[in-house]
Amino acid sequence: MAIREILEVPDPRLKTVSTPVTVFDDELKTLVADMFETMYDAPGIGLAAIQVGVPKRVLVIDLQPDDPDAEPEVCNHGGHEHTHQPTKREPRVFVNPEILDPAEELSTYQEGCLSVPEIYADVDRPKTCRVRYQDVEGITYEEDLDGLLATCIQHEMDHLEGILFIDHLSRLKRNMALKKLNKMRAAA
Ligand code: ZN
Repeated sequence: MAIREILEVPDPRLKTVSTPVTVFDDELKTLVADMFETMYDAPGIGLAAIQVGVPKRVLVIDLQPDDPDAEPEVCNHGGHEHTHQPTKREPRVFVNPEILDPAEELSTYQEGCLSVPEIYADVDRPKTCRVRYQDVEGITYEEDLDGLLATCIQHEMDHLEGILFIDHLSRLKRNMALKKLNKMRAAA
């Protein structure tokens, strides 16, 4: 596994429309493993393949990479005693996801994105949706999603169409967000 570089705005590759996965091979499994490692390292709760420069319809999501209430574990591998913050991971992979019936009712979440660092803004999206997707073996599933998972998968699916969450904002708010990002980059 390897941590890959996350593309950030205004990288034009983020506007790519990703193509469906047709071959469910080791290369796909490596991509998914690398995407998880990259997402956990960032850290983030979702990542689309195009964010690491691969224009394929693949998403990974884990809404709770860390369990803040868990007791730290003490271990001594590597020759010295140290503590690990235990994780209660719930990794989810969605290959070729499709949204079947988005709810008319909307919900609002303050969204952020690893490709638009440090910027957060409220976005309205359908509150629930049914999603059809494949796993890394090519097996098809359908599932009803709600809450943060419904929001997150819609955010990630936007990436597959070359859309960022800031594209849902008014031009004024988007420009303000990008200005803020440029200022923070200049200060860094
Ligand atoms: Zn994103």
